[in-house]
Amino acid sequence: MSVRFAVGAVSDVGVLRDLNQDSFLASGVLAAVADGMGGHRGGEVASQIAVETLMVSFAPPTFEKLIGAVKAANAEIIAQAAVDPELHGMGTTLCAMAVIPASDPAAARAAGGTDHVLGVVNVGDSRMYRLHNGKLEQLTEDHSLVESMVREGRLTREEADVHPQRNIVTRALGVADLVDVDAFTLAPEANTRFLLCSDGLFNEVDDAAIATILGSVTNPDEAAQALVVAANGNGGRDNITTLVVDVQVAAVEEEQTSNDTTDPTIDDDPSVSSVTMGGAAADPSLRNPTTAPNGAAQVDPTSVAPAGSLSPEAPKRRWWRRG
Ligand code: MG
Repeated sequence: MSVRFAVGAVSDVGVLRDLNQDSFLASGVLAAVADGMGGHRGGEVASQIAVETLMVSFAPPTFEKLIGAVKAANAEIIAQAAVDPELHGMGTTLCAMAVIPASDPAAARAAGGTDHVLGVVNVGDSRMYRLHNGKLEQLTEDHSLVESMVREGRLTREEADVHPQRNIVTRALGVADLVDVDAFTLAPEANTRFLLCSDGLFNEVDDAAIATILGSVTNPDEAAQALVVAANGNGGRDNITTLVVDVQVAAVEEEQTSNDTTDPTIDDDPSVSSVTMGGAAADPSLRNPTTAPNGAAQVDPTSVAPAGSLSPEAPKRRWWRRG
């Protein structure tokens, strides 16, 4: 079986802000959004580090490596903040999904099951949704103050949606040496559409409107763009990043699977995949990409610096308020 992502991705500064601190990356096997926080360049640098470190650290593509890559991103943000006073206190959310070969593809295939899984990791309040039968379902849990208060029964969901402190996150990368990563797997199903997004989308556009756009705009690029247009139309008070991820599942030819347990049609190594980055991650003042005509950057993954060592002087905070 061949499992690939077809991703439409847009990152937009929004209506009110001067800087885009969100970053994203998208390839056939990896999709991620990061929403940076911290003054004076900090937020955009943190989100850029997060997606770049995720990309280079997710190899070989196992579920454990995916979780490890998030921890490597945390360590790299802390290390870079420790050596640059302008970046002190920077942090970011990170929400990502990846195609991961099952540990024993031949056995899984023989059992009639899938030989790949989708791995999901999340820290912070960026979100992943799944559209199923026209209904939108949030698969990740927000690590935010208002979400905690909803769980404790102190706020209703409706009150949380408009709460003045809904921008306070309780988990982020860059805050502490140890980061608690939410991680789970899903079976890839054909014709499933996922959405990864920063809070600049769902704070402006409600679930019903998001579901309508995802369900009616077939092309993932156009759907991602339509979501951003809707958010800006409702105020655009934050940076908006949307990744519409269509999972494509195809059967592999009989002769290819009969004597080879690896799927020859799959490029499972994201380091050699075509990767698109956007938002702050595509900002030439922060890095050195070759800019594509659409404003996103086609990145040579080998040019990205490896993750650094953990800093003992890392800042520690429980909560993180957006700038
Ligand atoms: Mg945001």
